[in-house]
Amino acid sequence: LGGSISRALQQMSNATIIDEKVLNDCLNEITRALLQSDVQFKLVRDMQTNIKKIVNLDDLAAGHNKRKIIQQAIFNELCKMLDPGKPSFTPKKGKTSVVMFVGLQGSGKTTTCTKYAFYHQKKGWKPALVCADTFRAGAFDQLKQNATKAKITFLRKLYRVGSCKNCSRSGRHKQEAALFEEMRQVSEATKPDLVLFVMDSSIGQAAFDQAQAFKQSVAVGAVIVTKMDGHAKGGGALSAVAATKSPVTFIGTGEHMDEFEVFDVKPFVSRLLGMGDWSGFMDKIQEVVPMDQQPELLQKLSEGNFTLRIMYEQFQNILKMGPIGQVFSMLPGFSAELMPKGREKESQAKLKRYMTMMDSMTNEELDSSNPKLMNESRIMRIARGSGRHLREVMEMLEEYKRLAKIWSKMKGLKIPKKGEMSAL
Ligand code: GDP
Ligand code: MG
Repeated sequence: LGGSISRALQQMSNATIIDEKVLNDCLNEITRALLQSDVQFKLVRDMQTNIKKIVNLDDLAAGHNKRKIIQQAIFNELCKMLDPGKPSFTPKKGKTSVVMFVGLQGSGKTTTCTKYAFYHQKKGWKPALVCADTFRAGAFDQLKQNATKAKITFLRKLYRVGSCKNCSRSGRHKQEAALFEEMRQVSEATKPDLVLFVMDSSIGQAAFDQAQAFKQSVAVGAVIVTKMDGHAKGGGALSAVAATKSPVTFIGTGEHMDEFEVFDVKPFVSRLLGMGDWSGFMDKIQEVVPMDQQPELLQKLSEGNFTLRIMYEQFQNILKMGPIGQVFSMLPGFSAELMPKGREKESQAKLKRYMTMMDSMTNEELDSSNPKLMNESRIMRIARGSGRHLREVMEMLEEYKRLAKIWSKMKGLKIPKKGEMSAL
């Protein structure tokens, strides 16, 4: 998708005059791309109509950058489609919360609920996993194994609500009806604070109907889209939001426990539009990175080699520029985690703390992109040198690994030449 949308926008940027025809051509191209990316037909049509309403070419005063306005309109429209207007339930301190995971077989429930528990455990919560899947043979053992590996409490109780003796296991339709019935019963018995719908991103155009079917049976409150690391094109996320009127909260990006990211609408849409993390990102770089440092930063980005020293320099930039308008926050997955909104003061203190620790590192450590270098004795030395706790140094290194992974996604991306930078 990224490719063809950015091509469409590129074609538009090559046209000297942007009139009705150019806009229509561009919208048609984007429509095609969105459909290919598994966004439901009706959603695409709605978006097209809305854009035409918003962008009134006659109203655009001469001298305005029409391309930018159109591009911004598309961007905003897609963001709006991913925002159901109400936030998802988040657990409250000091209270037990029940989260129920639902989804078709193989969508990634077992994997995802472990990731979800692991994620919260790292943040100081005390999660526990309970198996309520009586459908799939081996579901209990699979979850237990996952939980053991991640050192998450596993409650042995197996929920058996209702009886599926009467449910015929042959015939796909009957089996699905039985699954939905069982799901309703589990939901009634456990009274979950949040029902999380887990959806495989590779199901294509089926996303909308599937999400809707689940929403009709249980009170879905949030969506997690899995297997975003594969060939899936991501459009299903838009359909799932539209069908469930619930936000996407996380995405799964691999089979491992830590391949799990907080879902952030804007970077996702940027990625969907293929303009990158780039268009906005480039603008920001031009805005906030000193001119003489820009080529070097871009070079480093395209090499994908993220060192602790780069992280240090980026933190310096962030602190200099204040919480808003940071270069780094344009990267997907960055801002939501490291600098959550409304907690800027804390975030800045954290960056400063991280930098103190990095001040206690050797040049070799700062310039290496090999995390294996960081053995226990080095970590201990850094902790002592900076007067911080061992745990904090490890946390900082975790953060580094996470950012390195995001950074590496930029690898090989074409660095725009001077003229191109402002074209998009
Ligand atoms: P369930 O039947 O809904 O419980 O699905 P599972 O959790 O057993 O997952 C089905 C398969 O998908 C397993 O092989 C998982 O390893 C795999 N899987 C789950 N999430 C992801 C993901 O985000 N990326 C990739 N590549 N594989 C995933
Ligand atoms: Mg399972």
